[in-house]
Amino acid sequence: MNLPVHLRTVISIVRGWLFHSPVYVQIAVTPRCNLNCRMCQVVKTWREEPELSLEELERVADTLGKLGVGYVVLTGGEPFLRKDLPGILKLFNERGFDVRLQTNGTLTTPELADCLVDSGLRHLSVSLNSLSPEKEDELAGREGVWEKAMETLALFSQRLPPRGSMVVLNSIVAPQTLGETLALAEFARKAGFFNSFIPVHTGRGLNYRTPEAGFEFSPEDFEKIDRVYGRLIELKKKGYPIFGSFRFLIESAEFLKTGVSHWHCPVPGLFFEVAPDGRYSPCSEFTTRYSVLAPDFVKTYRSESFRKEMRGYAEHCPGCMYACWPEVTYLCTSPPVFFQRAREFWRLLRFRRPVLSRKELENIARRCRSITI
Ligand code: SF4
Ligand code: SF4
Repeated sequence: MNLPVHLRTVISIVRGWLFHSPVYVQIAVTPRCNLNCRMCQVVKTWREEPELSLEELERVADTLGKLGVGYVVLTGGEPFLRKDLPGILKLFNERGFDVRLQTNGTLTTPELADCLVDSGLRHLSVSLNSLSPEKEDELAGREGVWEKAMETLALFSQRLPPRGSMVVLNSIVAPQTLGETLALAEFARKAGFFNSFIPVHTGRGLNYRTPEAGFEFSPEDFEKIDRVYGRLIELKKKGYPIFGSFRFLIESAEFLKTGVSHWHCPVPGLFFEVAPDGRYSPCSEFTTRYSVLAPDFVKTYRSESFRKEMRGYAEHCPGCMYACWPEVTYLCTSPPVFFQRAREFWRLLRFRRPVLSRKELENIARRCRSITI
């Protein structure tokens, strides 16, 4: 665990508490993706956008540094489509950011995994919505996705240092996957990974949420949602590596039943996203006309007219429970969540992940599949 790097994040969190300045930024390094997941609009939204060069991403990193950002997530589309991904990772690491890389796990080779770990990768998120290969492939719109994800998890299980690194499984909680949530929690615990359970978002007119039929929960599901989330909270209390805070889990269940979120969105404070072409996005759902590459972006960002314009997005937004945005907000506004996270961070410093092969991971998955609610 690189304490000086985490110190930078801690400082950005303190600044977030005091000044509502940005702590966390997602950078979409490419609009492209090799999959076409049913519950995702990213590729359709960004189909025509260009992507930033390495030199432009360096300028983005310098701007984020000036704004005091501590933590960045490299996302897409699918970041592994970029040939210069190790270089991108390295440039953010060299500037002292805490960096997480997000992937669908279908494009990893042993050579690329070596190169990314050598470039400083310590924190990886891999999409895994199901322990059933058929269901995962059906949701991702392509065959072989589940097998590839297992291969990726094994490659990084064997290459990331067992101490001081972290692999998170990103799983969408939708009607198709709700019954598997506890099985995924058990799988992660046994494999030494963490779970992030993200409620499905449905609707039209925004960048991310899916307009597709079949992703809405019906009132008959509500009791099951309560049971699943009640059980997740119990498991987390027992020490299961479930990444969401207790508050996030409680509010996620509510969101899945009612579509209403209860946290106060601080846009433009605490977080934002950089779109593939460098435009500022208050979050993943909206893209604006401002470019983070503009020489006067820091000045613009701090101006009252900009902040007023951005607050308009939050005021007209139906709300969300995308894990990252509410969690950063709780962290910087809610003392119970802050202290819960601090305790988890100390536990993480002592955490040692088992090193597992693909066959071992698949065996664990097979044994966990029978767990239902
Ligand atoms: S969810 Fe991720 S992997 Fe799937 S289409 Fe969207 S960006 Fe690609
Ligand atoms: S609630 Fe805030 S973070 Fe969430 S989608 Fe709306 S504007 Fe974005």
